[in-house]
Formats: sequence, C-alpha cells, structure tokens
Amino acid sequence: MNAPTHNLTHIQARMIAACGRAGRAPDSVRLVAVSKTRTPEEIRSVATLGQVLFAENRVQEARDKIPLVAAAGLEWHLIGPLQRNKVKTALQFFQMIHSVDSIELAREIAHRSNPTAPFPVLMQVNIGCEPQKSGVLPNEAQALAQAILTLPGIALRGLMTIPPWSAEAEAARPWFQALAQLRDQLMAAGIPAHALQELSMGMSNDFEVAIEEGATLVRIGSAVFAPA
Ligand SMILES: *Cc1c(COP(=O)(O)O)cnc(C)c1O
Repeated sequence: MNAPTHNLTHIQARMIAACGRAGRAPDSVRLVAVSKTRTPEEIRSVATLGQVLFAENRVQEARDKIPLVAAAGLEWHLIGPLQRNKVKTALQFFQMIHSVDSIELAREIAHRSNPTAPFPVLMQVNIGCEPQKSGVLPNEAQALAQAILTLPGIALRGLMTIPPWSAEAEAARPWFQALAQLRDQLMAAGIPAHALQELSMGMSNDFEVAIEEGATLVRIGSAVFAPA
C-alpha cells in the first residue's frame, strides 16, 4: 500500500484534543478541508476517508474542478473573495459562502438564489482592520448583519475572519477572541442567534487556538493535504 498523501487522521485527532482542552464536544467544530490548488485525485483520497466538507477560494477553479471530483454527497464552501458577476456560478457549485462583506454582494446573492431556500452565508470581518484585507470592519458589522437579515433568499449563519498574519499561533488568539466578542455584541444588539451560529476561524498553523476560542468551522488546507 502507498503511504497516505494527506494528514487527515492526524488533523482530526488534534481537533478532538483541542476540543477536549476547551471542554467542547468534538462534534461542535467541523473541519473544512481547503482544497485550492489540489488535484481531484488528492481531494478524492481525502473524501474516501469520510471527509465531506471542502472549500475553494476561487469560483473559476471550483467550476473546473468540482465536476471532476465526482464524489457524491460532498459539501463545498467558498472562502475567497467573490465578484458580483460570479455569484450566479458560485451558487451552482457551493452550499455556503464565507466571504460576504458588502450589502451589494449580499443583494446579488439574494437576487440569484431561490427565495424558498435561502442561501447560507457568513459575514467576513476584517477583525484587525487591515487596510488591504477583505471583510467588513468590526464597527460596521452590525449594520451589515441587519441589512442582510432584511433580504429574502439569503440566510446569515455567522462570522468568518482571517486574522493579521503571524508565524506564531498564539498571536492569533486575541483576534479569535475579538471575533467571538463581536458575535456576543451582535447578539446583545438583537441579531438572532440562528444568524450567528458559526464562527469560521483558524487555519493550518492556528486551528487549535481557534477551537479553544470557539471556532465552529476551521479552514485547513496545507496541514490536511501535506504528505503524512
Ligand atoms: C487557503 C486558505 C485557508 C487554508 O490555509 P492553510 O494555511 O493552507 O490551512 C483558509 N482560509 C482561507 C480564506 C484560505 O484562502
């Protein structure tokens, strides 16, 4: 038998251990396997072990690749920036979009989706207020959440963030705490709990810290697909 070409089992074990340290149930956090740049064969080898949830960051790549994976029952999330002219295609290939950061984009999703099956989205927050980064600023999050809630055809489900870059996982902890606090503030301001269920935060180098701080979706690419 060939050596496994991925680290899925090891990452799952580390996620369970992080849940244990945080006193959380292991099923309270889901692994989003980020498959950008990976081949259909690599994706299938991970799916074969039971991984269901995958993510891509570009609509074009997803459109070319998802049909080639040809594994039934997989769930695909879009985690990268979305241009309004790609919304129609995105809705065909993805079951959730993590990167909604403007009312114009939310309106386009609402307009293109089926009003009887509101399309689930997360609001991307630029938690570090970095000039070049996507995401709504924290102090504008409440207004955007309220605006999304008025639209038919789109269902707000929570928050997503990419914190300021650091090689140190611990450096991300205050940013993950800030996103969880923002969620609490939005709830206190009247945004309903069902619109704030998910916290999408944590990547290969800091997902354990994110789980300790309340992540419900961790987006892990290189650590899953790297050779074991
Ligand atoms: C690529 C990507 C990830 C995964 O990054 P890794 O460091 O490979 O785990 C997570 N989130 C977003 C938005 C990405 O583009």
